[in-house]
Amino acid sequence: MPKAAEVIAIDEQPQKVKINLLGFSASRLGDFFDEMGEKRFRATQIIKWIHQMGECDLDQMTNISKDLRERLKDIAEIKLPEVVSCQDSVDGTRKWLIRVDGGSCIEMVYIPERERGTLCVSSQIGCALDCSFCATGKQGFNRDLTAAEIIGQLWIAADSFDQFDPKAKRRVTNVVMMGMGEPLMNFDNVVDAMSIMLEDNAYGLSKRRVTLSTAGVVPALDKLSDVSDVSLAISLHAPNDELRNQLVPINRKYPLVDFIESARNYIDKMPDNRRKATVEYTLMDQVNDRTEHARELAVLLKDLPCKINLIPFNPFPGTEYKRVSNTALNRFRDILAGEGYTVTVRTTRGDDIAAACGQLAGEVNDRTKRQERYKKKLDEAQPVRIIE
Ligand code: SF4
Repeated sequence: MPKAAEVIAIDEQPQKVKINLLGFSASRLGDFFDEMGEKRFRATQIIKWIHQMGECDLDQMTNISKDLRERLKDIAEIKLPEVVSCQDSVDGTRKWLIRVDGGSCIEMVYIPERERGTLCVSSQIGCALDCSFCATGKQGFNRDLTAAEIIGQLWIAADSFDQFDPKAKRRVTNVVMMGMGEPLMNFDNVVDAMSIMLEDNAYGLSKRRVTLSTAGVVPALDKLSDVSDVSLAISLHAPNDELRNQLVPINRKYPLVDFIESARNYIDKMPDNRRKATVEYTLMDQVNDRTEHARELAVLLKDLPCKINLIPFNPFPGTEYKRVSNTALNRFRDILAGEGYTVTVRTTRGDDIAAACGQLAGEVNDRTKRQERYKKKLDEAQPVRIIE
């Protein structure tokens, strides 16, 4: 008779890790079926089931033979991140707290407007860039999100609005990669997830309606135009290097002149010459809101096709910065508008549910050693996992 320990050893066979198909782009899924010895069109069928019909149970995918479904179930799954909470603001803003593998939480916000609904999606758990005015930056960095965890956010939002039903009234019409994290520091996964957003057999969003926002990872931005032409937002927040070095530390590595040139090259390569970059500028009281800052910004941006989005700073506990005064905000806007720029002012939404990025997720796990390694990578000017 075997001893108890031997019995336990037999019973505790390690569970087979399955491939999560949720984050597979059409081409990756095609390769996957190639490797299985199956036809590539299976990729289209699976993508439609998951991202058009909202079906994540392989058993329900009835146009796939039972035999293939069984083979798939043996090696693959469709696994979504877990929704921890979902809060609705009185103004219609909806905010989710989502738990990913490892136990950390990320945030996602949906902002309804009259003719569109914009989903702000996270790309990393925390962020290593440590911008001094950012609640997410203060939390440290844990890890990159997988493509499944990024596109899973859109799936969760679409499902919550019954968007997989073609008759749904409320929909996600726009996605901005502007949540937690710097998208270009998680290049491959973000590009894969964005390709599913654009895919006709999935969400079918237009390139104009998917926006990637970057704080200025210049080599990665240079590479992006080779693989994608989604809309671009650049997080500037200062009109000169001296001030930007304090607010956005990555500026010390990639100064404004390089960032603006890279953004201009990206815009120049776009097939539609009407497209412009969006310049994001968070206004903080007595920091970057002066008349001379507005004038300097107007000169800095003169060769970049762009519109400017002014964002009154939304204070969070522990920050030293304050919201810009209305007088300074209006003055800043008027100077830029007077120089011929299209200027919008972002209105604060979802105040009652702490909808500003990073206000809900709290501390991320393991911010020390991983963050140090990550910062070292940054110092060595090696954007991570760039597609060559
Ligand atoms: S502003 Fe963006 S890039 Fe800067 S720390 Fe926050 S999430 Fe990261």
